[in-house]
Amino acid sequence: MNKTEELLENLEQDYKDNIESIKRTFKKLKKKPPKTFDYFVQEQHEEVFEKVDCLSCGECCKSLGPNITDLDIRHMAKGLKMKPAKFTEQYIEMDEDDNFVFNTMPCPFLMPDNYCMIYDHRPKACREYPHTDRRKFSQLLGITELNIKTCPAAMEVSKAIVKEFGAEYVKVIRTQK
Ligand code: SF4
Ligand code: SF4
Repeated sequence: MNKTEELLENLEQDYKDNIESIKRTFKKLKKKPPKTFDYFVQEQHEEVFEKVDCLSCGECCKSLGPNITDLDIRHMAKGLKMKPAKFTEQYIEMDEDDNFVFNTMPCPFLMPDNYCMIYDHRPKACREYPHTDRRKFSQLLGITELNIKTCPAAMEVSKAIVKEFGAEYVKVIRTQK
């Protein structure tokens, strides 16, 4: 079993063990993130994805699926040399919140080896998931709290945030004043 598979296998237990401290720390960070917060998260993202291999996981493509925009549909249809209307008829449906989503889960474009069949034309939300390299990450802590149930990389980044800013957070804020 490789490192990614190990993290994935332990994810449920990891979630139970860490969710309280993650929620507590995120709650404080949402209100007032340290100035260096984005740099720290970016560094963690890079470190974590050096050991996490998405091709050994694929959980986001198996169990979540992205929200899809009109532009995504046009892009994917182009990649498959299909008309957008035909693509929509074949692969897209609307969820209960009126968002476009794929009509099957796992994603119809996920291949058995976890490669994405339309990788160069995949939706923006797929490209950005799990968002740990996005700017203003403090605004994404709410969604990250959900993503750690599915994504071992998001969990590793979140645990690193707790380690850095959990107990020490008050001190960090004081030094900024
Ligand atoms: S389009 Fe590709 S990256 Fe996006 S959910 Fe499907 S398989 Fe995964
Ligand atoms: S982004 Fe997260 S859930 Fe998706 S394949 Fe990579 S490690 Fe797994």
